[in-house]
Amino acid sequence: MPTSALALFDFDPSGAATGYRLVDPAQPALTVTELAATRGDGVFETVGLHEGRPIKAARHFERFANSVRMLDLPAQDTSVWDAALREVAAALDAGPEGWVKMVLSRGIEGGDAPTGWAYATVSPSTVSVREEGLRVVLLDRGYRNDIAQTSPWLLQGAKTISYAINRAAYREAAKRDADDVVFTTSDGYLLEGPTSTLVLRTGMTLHTTRTDLGILAGTTQAELFEWAARNGYSTVYERLTPADLAAADAAWLVSSVRLAAPIRAVDGIPKPVDAALTASFTAHLHSLATPSAG
Ligand code: PLP
Repeated sequence: MPTSALALFDFDPSGAATGYRLVDPAQPALTVTELAATRGDGVFETVGLHEGRPIKAARHFERFANSVRMLDLPAQDTSVWDAALREVAAALDAGPEGWVKMVLSRGIEGGDAPTGWAYATVSPSTVSVREEGLRVVLLDRGYRNDIAQTSPWLLQGAKTISYAINRAAYREAAKRDADDVVFTTSDGYLLEGPTSTLVLRTGMTLHTTRTDLGILAGTTQAELFEWAARNGYSTVYERLTPADLAAADAAWLVSSVRLAAPIRAVDGIPKPVDAALTASFTAHLHSLATPSAG
């Protein structure tokens, strides 16, 4: 069976996907005037797969619709995208891990239809990062904590495909002998990772950044907070500072493919890893992998 699969969407005149075709992922599929490629003008979702099945797909579609609205892209019929998601996932050689990236862009420059695709692939194991943990550095994103309110055109909170800055942050982390990043605001608050949400634990309380601080609302964090609330934890969204991270009993960067990756050092200072809670987080997220929408 293949290790990748690709569906290309067809659109009606309103720009809503009406169906899709499975095509060979090794063949070229986009034109050079595609705005996804030339301007990064589009939105995406990456859905984690466990044993070939999507994890928490419904949360991804909810956020996808929000990103679509924020970028004034045409509204989509979730059932068409969900069918494609499940078909490309099912086409893979069902190893333990994989992901599907769904993209909707503004289409070809000067054209009148969006471009959309769903690409599935098996992925290397993420077990080691959950076992060994991450060394993170704090990097200033250069925005104040209130920019989502003052400057909505910066699209903070939308999952756009413009990720050059996020990738530059990873290169900066590597130069500082670290594995990952926690962005901070210019006025001193913790934000998120370049592809993840920050979660802290103090005692039986889990903390994360308020989503109105100009971060992406994480589907993994939201799911873990609901699980935690059912399992005796308090959960809070707040303005967190580097001092809160330093004082926390444990911390994670959580996301859809790596799941909950514990932070084991911050700017070179070691941090204890909570292996037991990490394992519970993983078990819960794996249990959500469903054959139908969920
Ligand atoms: N924040 C950013 C900037 C991201 O790119 C991502 C995921 O890629 C996340 C947070 C985590 O989101 P999720 O848990 O939905 O994967």
